[in-house]
Amino acid sequence: MTDNAQYWDRPAETLTRAGIEKLQLSLLKSCLARAGRSMFYNAKFKKIGFDPGSASSLDDVGRIPFTVKQDLRESYPYGFLCEPREQLVRMHISSGTTGQAIAVFYTKADLELWADLLARCMYMAGARPGDTFQNLSGYGLFTGGLGFQYGAERLGMLTIPSGAGNSKRQIQIMRDFSTNVIHIIPSFLLLLMDVIKEMKVDPQNDLSLRIAFVGAEPYSQEVRRRFEDFYAIKVYNSYGLSEMNGPGVAFECPCQNGLHVWEDAYLVEIIDPKSLAPVPDGQYGELVLTALRREAMPILRYRTRDLTRILPGECECGRVHKRIDRIQGRTDDMFIIKGVNVFPIQVEQVLMTIPEVGNNYVIVLKRENNVDDMVVRVEVTESVFVEDMRKLEHVRKRIARDLKSELLVTPKVELVEPNSLPKSEGKALRLIDQRVI
Ligand code: ADP
Ligand code: ZN
Repeated sequence: MTDNAQYWDRPAETLTRAGIEKLQLSLLKSCLARAGRSMFYNAKFKKIGFDPGSASSLDDVGRIPFTVKQDLRESYPYGFLCEPREQLVRMHISSGTTGQAIAVFYTKADLELWADLLARCMYMAGARPGDTFQNLSGYGLFTGGLGFQYGAERLGMLTIPSGAGNSKRQIQIMRDFSTNVIHIIPSFLLLLMDVIKEMKVDPQNDLSLRIAFVGAEPYSQEVRRRFEDFYAIKVYNSYGLSEMNGPGVAFECPCQNGLHVWEDAYLVEIIDPKSLAPVPDGQYGELVLTALRREAMPILRYRTRDLTRILPGECECGRVHKRIDRIQGRTDDMFIIKGVNVFPIQVEQVLMTIPEVGNNYVIVLKRENNVDDMVVRVEVTESVFVEDMRKLEHVRKRIARDLKSELLVTPKVELVEPNSLPKSEGKALRLIDQRVI
């Protein structure tokens, strides 16, 4: 660790653009050479006649074929390995949110680098040695558990591996040990708001929370605001995926305006998911990542299916590592209703600005007599629920109107009582498509 209070890894975090590009080219060369040792890339390179030794500038990245999730599934479990079995010390398996999960492997050096990147992320956002860090994330196969654990220990925080679930016990631990930093997925942090109320705990006075790292699934700026107000904390967006080690790929700095991708470890591109051509900075597209430093399993130009954009311009924090905008969702989260493309997060954005709306919602797509309908089921707050029907109807109409003006589709809005929709301690299911296609 450096003596400069602002940085965890001063040389990496203060690289210039030219410095980043120079480093990336040399990393890319060694990464390609290593990748060529795996069964998958060896066969792929031969098939398309790509010589991994031929890359001489960063622009040559465009000649490397994309890798998609299906490739990883088909090569399950060892097809991407570049190191002999004896060099491997860890395996994780992705959550499998969108289908068959995939296995990822780590060498000792991979774990070292991963821990260091996560320590860097958390330090950047304001966590410090001596803080008490509670990791309310699934342990075991999910990368958010051990990944953050090692990063937090590396940073020097007292680390509590409290895991997912056990809501009441989590709050008790927070109280007993004055937890001030947490890592948690947004659905669970939402759920805890209700638990805290139920336990009659005052989140601002009975707890000592200061910072939350929140990620692993999409959430809107409005939800962040709700968290920050309710808990009186700062919330920083954390992005990662198992294929790229796990969390620690991109993280928000104190400016809370986009997530810096650690370009000394990952190469970032944004492409048009249809034409596969690069899109200019500022424009939304699919995030494509290359793990430049992974030893066990470097994955090249991985199509994440996550939609975001590069935020143009420089960040006020001074780091030049490119920033991505918060993830809008996965390409496969998008649904089409009455000819309009919609992401669940757009619905959330609208709902969460309405004070009478509670913390849970679900979108149900139905088809009756060949007509598609979008039903948005929304929990209202306790205080509204006890009001008269007129007030409820007023809220219902306002939600429908606001959604219509954002999405250009008129949904059916159903208000339901607080705590009546299914709760999730894991990644939430926000969309139920009942249409028979
Ligand atoms: P799975 O793809 O099976 O869920 P992972 O556990 O590896 O497996 O999850 C990685 C995925 O989680 C990412 O590709 C992305 O879709 C989602 N994700 C991770 N962090 C964020 C974030 N901060 N915002 C939105 N989505 C995120
Ligand atoms: Zn910044």
